[in-house]
Amino acid sequence: MLEVKDLHVTVEGSEILKGLSLSIKAGEVHALMGPNGAGKSTLSAVIAGKDGYEVTQGSITFEGKNVLEMEIEERAQAGLLLGFQYPVEIPGVKNIYLLKAALNAQRVARGESEIPAPEFMKLIKEQLNFMKMDPSFLQRAVNEGFSGGEKKRNEILQMLVLQPKLAMLDEIDSGLDIDAMKVVADGVNSLRDQERAILLVTHYQRLLDYIVPDKVHVLVDGRIVKSGDAELAKELEANGYEGIEESAA
Ligand code: ADP
Ligand code: MG
Ligand code: MG
Repeated sequence: MLEVKDLHVTVEGSEILKGLSLSIKAGEVHALMGPNGAGKSTLSAVIAGKDGYEVTQGSITFEGKNVLEMEIEERAQAGLLLGFQYPVEIPGVKNIYLLKAALNAQRVARGESEIPAPEFMKLIKEQLNFMKMDPSFLQRAVNEGFSGGEKKRNEILQMLVLQPKLAMLDEIDSGLDIDAMKVVADGVNSLRDQERAILLVTHYQRLLDYIVPDKVHVLVDGRIVKSGDAELAKELEANGYEGIEESAA
């Protein structure tokens, strides 16, 4: 589904990704781990098409298409979605409006009609319930005054509504207490599907006790230095990144 080959990315003149390769098949959950500043968020941002990143070498293809030639909206409509592509507060724009607009943009781009209001309400209520979110949440402005946990739940809610083919979630566990993390993990697990891939960017192993990945990659200084299965995350928890950084060096 996703093929990243020898990717080199520069941000404000310094090279952050230095020849990164990654291959993700439909149905798989990949965890991308690594120390702070390794380039994890940079990778997901470049795949999603955020501004400010210069690809100097390498390629990214998604279902055979050259992602680097696609605009950010085209990528989202192709089913490539980074959680909280819209993480900022949007004063005055209600959460429900943003969710509906995003869903309709996707449907229209696929040649479908806009979702009828009752159908949308039914869909959103089911997902809200699943994410243990209060319906009043829909009427609040996007992310305005949301707690860290509410933002993360909202991020998963967006994924549940938009049903991307490749869901990328960056630090979905940061700042969550254990109960909120379980709700978020249940949400992510419910996204698991033979047709869908998930890329989880996480600094800590804890989340992976609840979302067991098929593959784990360790990113250090702009390159994947080690890949393995869920066991690799447990090794990292026990030994930290130091041993791996040394062996990579
Ligand atoms: P990670 O998510 O693994 O912690 P990031 O991808 O956020 O790492 O950052 C990798 C490196 O790139 C860091 O050294 C960071 O300071 C730098 N960086 C990321 N984004 C920017 C930016 N917009 N401007 C300048 N430097 C950046
Ligand atoms: Mg290279
Ligand atoms: Mg990061």
